[in-house]
Order: sequence, then structure tokens, then C-alpha cells
Amino acid sequence: MQRRAANITRLAPQRSLATLGPADRIVIVGGGPAGTAAGEELRRLGFRGQIQLLCADPGGSYDRPACSKGLITGAQRPKDARIGVTDKRWEIDWRLGRTAIACDMNERVVWAQTGEGFRFDGLVIANGARPMLNSMWSGAAVPHIVHDINDAWEIRRGLRNANRVAIVGGGFTGCELACSIRGMGKDVTLIHPRDVLMNGVLDGVAAKLMTDEHAEDGVDLRLGRRVKAADRIGANWTLTLDDGSRIRADMVVMTAGEKPDIAWLAGTGIDISDGVVCDDALRVLDDEGAVVPGVVAAGALAKWPNRWMNGKNSRCGQWIAALEQGQAAARSLLAGDAPTESAILLPRYWTQQLGLRIQVCGDIGNDTEVRRLDRRPGHRKPARTGVLTCHYRGKDLVGVVAVNAPTEFVTVARELLYSKPRFELSAPRQPVQVPTGVLSRDGRRLAATG
Ligand SMILES: Cc1cc2nc3c(=O)[nH]c(=O)nc-3n(C[C@H](O)[C@H](O)[C@H](O)COP(=O)(O)OP(=O)(O)OC[C@H]3O[C@@H](n4cnc5c(N)ncnc54)[C@H](O)[C@@H]3O)c2cc1C
Repeated sequence: MQRRAANITRLAPQRSLATLGPADRIVIVGGGPAGTAAGEELRRLGFRGQIQLLCADPGGSYDRPACSKGLITGAQRPKDARIGVTDKRWEIDWRLGRTAIACDMNERVVWAQTGEGFRFDGLVIANGARPMLNSMWSGAAVPHIVHDINDAWEIRRGLRNANRVAIVGGGFTGCELACSIRGMGKDVTLIHPRDVLMNGVLDGVAAKLMTDEHAEDGVDLRLGRRVKAADRIGANWTLTLDDGSRIRADMVVMTAGEKPDIAWLAGTGIDISDGVVCDDALRVLDDEGAVVPGVVAAGALAKWPNRWMNGKNSRCGQWIAALEQGQAAARSLLAGDAPTESAILLPRYWTQQLGLRIQVCGDIGNDTEVRRLDRRPGHRKPARTGVLTCHYRGKDLVGVVAVNAPTEFVTVARELLYSKPRFELSAPRQPVQVPTGVLSRDGRRLAATG
């Protein structure tokens, strides 16, 4: 470990990385919201050098959230969800169908599965996460997963012949799928290891309300249960749960989480102990906690101390966060080794299920104090009439969750958006302007000013 880290330090470019200019090349790995936003932001900030974007998907970018919603119900077809590549005016050289398989930090080259090497002066790591499937699911018993546009379309096609669908995992994706598939008149069994659905993304109040709603919608909920064995003969599945009960299904879909896609970074000395570990400005750190010059990360795989999350090192698997991280990472890359602003991201996401709008903004951690507001107190169906939960740390409002209370949500979320997180990192960085040096066209005036 120490040897690899030493390599990075010794072989790091001797010049200031704030001099990234027209003769330099930035390679972005990943064509999702994080990678795309990083490329556009680099141009917006005036970077004139070459930008190459490696994207494993041969069709370019697409609306991934549609994979558990419109693409399943048929409201969208794959071509409706395709975003493709960025506008030509950004002059980003998209290399479609290129999967990064290795990275040489000494030579500063990313290697693709095609055998091509992409030399870089600056690197943005933004290739997201991939689904987890444990070894129990093997041989004939490999379930559907729902990660990309092809997976979603496979599920859509499979649903033509399936009437009983078992979904493993009751997070956002699993619940959205359950809702979409129930809406098609199919029987759905949802298996989730906790006693409420969406416990990782909602607070206790909203999670309980939505669990009741799914039960009422006719989803067969198996809460607090895990799949112990899976057997498949032809189209007939039998899942055995840890309480010995059995579920028969014509289709099984696994939605139990994703993990950062970091295999290609093994051996680089970059800290990939849990995603790509970064400092507060999304600059990538090595195994010893030192900044790796000229390398930033963004999106679902980046782990960083977000001041909105009480400064805890965390990852954020949401679409808006990926866009904002991409922009922040671009700023940090151009700032080079000059001090720059922290990437402070207010998490916000939403889902539409069973005709209910669920919205989340900010920090809704288990250790916050929760205050519940019912739009119609005492109503028999609180989720339908609207419930808002506000989260506090001391006197500070830090988060909000709404179930069918969009107006109230916007009011509170706006307050959060306009406020600053109170949490300070132990050694806060000095905010500086993005160096104007990188804005130069002529390649001479390139020194950082920050
Ligand atoms: C089914 C589903 C539904 C979702 N719904 C929502 C939602 O409603 N709201 C929400 O906020 N979030 C949602 N999310 C999460 C959201 O889509 C992700 O958080 C977001 O897409 C992360 O963006 P990213 O750019 O980090 O990664 P991704 O969007 O995963 O993009 C990664 C990119 O990298 C490419 N790539 C991967 N590996 C390599 C490699 N080795 N070399 C080169 N390229 C590579 C991929 O082809 C892709 O272009 C959903 C996710 C899924 C799977």
C-alpha cells in the first residue's frame, strides 16, 4: 500500500495542476449525469484543452430513473429515455462503447477493453455503480436486475408472460417496480429484510405510511425476511425465505442495492476502500489520505465529507446529486492544487408511487429530532391527505420529507436550499475563484490566480 502511494507522490506532475490548459487533455470515465455535467462544466469554466469521455454504453447517456418507471409500464420506450451524447458545442469527444478496465497512474493512462490507452493530464472518475448479486443467484436461477435501459426493456418483455412477480429488495427501485407491475394487474410479492419499506431513503414516518399503502394496494409484503434459496425450472421459480416459507413466481427481479464500480482502479494507490474516497472538494485521495494530483471523482461512486450530511463521509446515489457533483468536481480539477470550495450538496430526491408524491430534501438521519405535521390531523388515511416531517439538529432545520404535501415541502425545502449547513469541517478550505489562468486561449497565461 505504502509503495503504491509513494509512486503517486513521486510521479505526480511537478508543475502546478492549476496550469491545465489548451495543450492538456482531461479524460472523463462515465457518460452518466456526473460525467456529462463535469464535461459541460469544464467548458463553461473555459477549459480549452481536449476532453475525452469514455462511456461503456454504446448508445451514450440515458435517463436511468426511467428504468424502474416508464420503461416498465410501457409509457416510455428505450428511445424516449435515450439522452445520447452532449451537444456538439461543448466539443466533448465521446468514446462510446469504451469500458475502462485499468488505470496507470504513473504513465497517466486509462486503458479501455478495446486495448486503447487514453492519456490524461486531468482525470474525472464518474462511472457510477453496478448492481450487487450474491453467489446464491447462479446457474439457471439468475434473476432480472434493473440497472440499465436493456435490463428494463428485458423486464418489460418478460412481463408479457409473467403473472406472479417476486421482487427482492424494498428500496426506492423495488417499490417503484412493485407499483408499476401492480398497475399492470400482476401479482407482486415484495421481500425486504427490514420491517418497513424504503427504510434507507425515507424517515420512519414516511416509510411506515408507504409500507401501509403498498400493503393496501395488494402487494404481498414479506418484511423482515431474506431469500435463503432460489430454484428455477423453466419459467417456474421457487424462492425459499429464511422463515422456511416458499414463494412461487414466474419472474424474479433483484433490486437489492448497488455498489461502486471501482475494479478498474485496483492497484492505482487510490483509496477505493468504499467507493472512491475524496476530500471535501471531491479531489481523490490515496491510501494514505493524500490528494492524488489532477484526479477528481463524482456521482454515485464518490465518497466525501458533505457538510450537509454533518460532514460524515458518505455517498449519494441520486440523479441531481450526480449532476451537482460533476460540476463541483470540474471546478476542483481546474483549481488544481490551489485551495477551492468544498462540494456541499443538499441531497434531494423524489418518487411517485400509488398516486402519492414522496419528496425528500436534506439530512434525515436517524439521529435527528423529527417533528410530524399532518395536513388533516386524525384523518384515517394520512398518506393521502398529506404528511410532512421536519428534521432538526438542535434548533437547526436540516431535512424534510413529504408524503403528498408538495406545497408545504417546497416551502421548507426552499428554506433549506437558501441556508448554509452549520457543520464546519475541522480544517475548512478557503473559498477561491476558479483560476482565470485556465480561461486563456493562447496557452501562455496559464498560472492560477486563486
Ligand atoms: C432503476 C433506477 C432508478 C433510479 N431512479 C432514480 C430516481 O428516481 N431519482 C434519483 O435521484 N435517482 C434515481 N436513481 C439513481 C440515479 O440514476 C443514479 O444515482 C445516477 O444515475 C448516478 O449517476 P452517475 O453519473 O454517478 O452514474 P451512472 O448514471 O450509473 O452513469 C455511469 C456511466 O458510466 C458508464 N460506465 C460504467 N462503467 C464504466 C467503465 N468502466 N468505463 C467507462 N464507462 C463506464 C456507464 O455506461 C454510464 O454511462 C435510479 C437508479 C436506478 C438504477
